[in-house]
Amino acid sequence: MGKKYVYLFNEGDANMRELLGGKGANLAEMSKLGMPVPNGFTITTEACNKYYEDGETISDDIKAEIMVYLAKLEEETGKKFGDSENPLLVSVRSGARASMPGMMDTILNLGINDVVAETVAEKSGNARFAYDSYRRFIQMFADVVKGLSKKRFEEIIDEVKAKKGIKDDLDLTAEDMKELVARFKEFYQEELGESFPTDPKDQMMEAIEAVFKSWNNERAIYYRRMNDIPGDWGTAVNVQMMVFGNMGEDCGTGVAFTRNPATGENALYGEFLMNAQGEDVVAGVRTPKKIDQLKEVSPTAYEQFVDICDKLEHHYKNMQDMEFTIEGGKLFMLQTRNGKRTAQAALKVACDMVDEGLINTDEALMMVEPQQLDTLLHPMFDPAALAAATPVTTALPASPGAGSGQVVFSAEEAKEEVAKGKKVILVRLETSPEDIEGMAVSEGILTVRGGMTSHAAVVARGMGACCVSGAGDIEMHAEEGYFTIGDRKFTREDWISVDGSTGNVYGEKIKTVPAEISGNFERFMKWADERRKLKIRTNADTPRDAAQAVKFGAEGIGLVRTEHMFFEGDKIKAIREMIVAKTDEQMEAALNKIEPLQQKDFEGIYEAMEGRPVTIRYLDPPLHEFVPNDPEDIAELAKEMGMPVEELEQVCSNLHEVNPMMGHRGSRLDISNPGIGRMQTAAVIKAALNVNAKHPDWNIEPEIMLPLIGDVKELQYVKNIVTTEADRILAEAGSDMKYHVGTMIEIPRAALLADEIAQEAEFFSFGTNDLTQMTFGFSRDDAGKFLPEYYNAKIYEVDPFASLDQKGVGKLIKMAAELGRKTRPDIKLGICGEHGGHPASIEFCHKIGLNYVSCSPFRVPIARLAAAQAAIQND
Ligand code: PEP
Ligand code: MG
Repeated sequence: MGKKYVYLFNEGDANMRELLGGKGANLAEMSKLGMPVPNGFTITTEACNKYYEDGETISDDIKAEIMVYLAKLEEETGKKFGDSENPLLVSVRSGARASMPGMMDTILNLGINDVVAETVAEKSGNARFAYDSYRRFIQMFADVVKGLSKKRFEEIIDEVKAKKGIKDDLDLTAEDMKELVARFKEFYQEELGESFPTDPKDQMMEAIEAVFKSWNNERAIYYRRMNDIPGDWGTAVNVQMMVFGNMGEDCGTGVAFTRNPATGENALYGEFLMNAQGEDVVAGVRTPKKIDQLKEVSPTAYEQFVDICDKLEHHYKNMQDMEFTIEGGKLFMLQTRNGKRTAQAALKVACDMVDEGLINTDEALMMVEPQQLDTLLHPMFDPAALAAATPVTTALPASPGAGSGQVVFSAEEAKEEVAKGKKVILVRLETSPEDIEGMAVSEGILTVRGGMTSHAAVVARGMGACCVSGAGDIEMHAEEGYFTIGDRKFTREDWISVDGSTGNVYGEKIKTVPAEISGNFERFMKWADERRKLKIRTNADTPRDAAQAVKFGAEGIGLVRTEHMFFEGDKIKAIREMIVAKTDEQMEAALNKIEPLQQKDFEGIYEAMEGRPVTIRYLDPPLHEFVPNDPEDIAELAKEMGMPVEELEQVCSNLHEVNPMMGHRGSRLDISNPGIGRMQTAAVIKAALNVNAKHPDWNIEPEIMLPLIGDVKELQYVKNIVTTEADRILAEAGSDMKYHVGTMIEIPRAALLADEIAQEAEFFSFGTNDLTQMTFGFSRDDAGKFLPEYYNAKIYEVDPFASLDQKGVGKLIKMAAELGRKTRPDIKLGICGEHGGHPASIEFCHKIGLNYVSCSPFRVPIARLAAAQAAIQND
């Protein structure tokens, strides 16, 4: 027998997530637990992958298998596709292995045609319902399967309403719905030159294909890239018998979380609408009621639902996010999944569940996504500034955090304005998943419609963007470029602030303050620290950044980029003098200026780190970042150096490099000008001696790191400059302070020859930024321009400068680590490229046994948790 591509819900369970997708596996599990789940079947993720392998066609074998399962579904339900007695209607919904809310497509009410609509009308005694379902189906099918614009359908609805003089959709009668169906079909025919498909089997096959296709729509690809979800996972498709929430007042639909997804409070949290379909709740078009109110409207269904919620949470040992429908007073479960939650809520739920005895601390650590902690590390409103501000309106606190920015009205506009350096708040009537990129770059999101489970809220929480939704006081005039709240008018010039924790909106800019680690966060991070093997260091170039990183839990500095110390104020002039020096005298004069500045900076950093290890990387200035371009700067520098302007212009022009990232950088500077290494050594050693004299118990041992080394002889040469100078200063001072010399491994040749390099290096730190650049041959500066085309062509899925390429670059690192250890078993190994703060890359570092990762201060807590999760999953 060939491979099985289709499973009935009662053939699967929660462990089959990879094959059945999250939704399919959980529907199967709920069926197994005896919960009321409408019957259905799942077409596997492997079928989706096969669809792409077969050049985007569903093979005849798979089609035949789907038909077999359709027949089984008909048998189970006693209903039949297209039947004039007892017709079967289904939903066709996507469901990937990882939840991707709103990113892919769903079609409801599939199976309707003229005959079926009439039958449904007769059987339900509710013609309005039947034709409402029909017109919804045409709309969804046209949008999802055929890509027709939703707008025209909305316009037709508005035209019919205008003709009848009604405002509310609920006032449309059965006859009106019939008219809508007829006009929708006409529009469909006009646009596509074909009539709307009447055979439910054709409808189903087209819908299944559309769901497979939606795996590769733009927003799904973007979401995957943001969330490290591989493109080859594919999506499953769930075909499930429809139950109807829109069949009358004893019907309804809703979504609920077992705990509050914004705060983590242990209380059922959700929303519902009577006489509605699921899309009405999540699309945020009608404002739903609180779940508690269901108690009065449909008490039996409510009690059963509460009981199921409790069972599901205990069963999955995680907060659940569920969808349900009530048909004729009877409850049906349509979905359960681990609920997306804010970082605050995630920490509270994890700590509470440990206290409730539901999970252990390892399970708690696995429950929080490291990246999510980021939202806790960013500024909140300054309490004093906040107290002085008065809200202009208050709405739902949909996703916490604080944001101030100028008003924009579309995702496109948000992207454009942010690219120009503006801070923006995206103000929308409601958001749709297409807005995701614009939401990601905004300081905050404010929507007029929608509840806590609207797309805006769910997506914002997922990406840690602050969001206030359902601000009904706002009157939007986006096309005219303004909105009003009461009698205040806000245009693109105006600043507003949104507080996603309280739902308050302010008509002004409000100062923010840095975050701190305390309460649940602190407790949780202690568990992480007890569990991880990797040490976490930080990349910091100033005492302020170093101190911030220590607050976030850094155990040392893995990279001080000494050239960055010159970005501040007037210091850049000194390093420019060094770079353009033509004579030995000019060079010496420049180095004499730099040395005390460096020494002072190093002292500041040693002080801030209070005895923790600090790796100082010697100068590695890509020349194009430092050589002056501006005529004024050139004139000023020429004056300072006593050089004619023309001569200096000539020097700058000679220094121009065709490929500066592979230019005269790093240790290459010391080869050309040994004085530079000597000067830096003097600054480091003297700084350490001074700080040790003040704090004898700190016992600082400088770690000197030489960049961009490609050969052991090169390392020997530069190291000799370092040790000669260091030993001289130590001897003069009569000190026995120890120091260490190591190197970055960031040129592929160094990785290949790491056994030789380790003869001279006491430690390696993998500079994965340059190592990625040189392994791929992609310039760090330019690759962003063409990488999106690689994503589109599915050659590379993610930016290798953000997520370590474990296959290629990782192979070099692993090999270099092994070669290094062979020569020097106690060699210290770390990583200091950007990947040091990226969870999946950190897991790789753990697996190959590095000693530490080093990342920017704000990623330190993320790295602490990622390292703990790596230990839990791999040891
Ligand atoms: C690296 O190349 O990974 C690195 C940390 O050095 P820089 O980014 O300063 O080149
Ligand atoms: Mg580098």
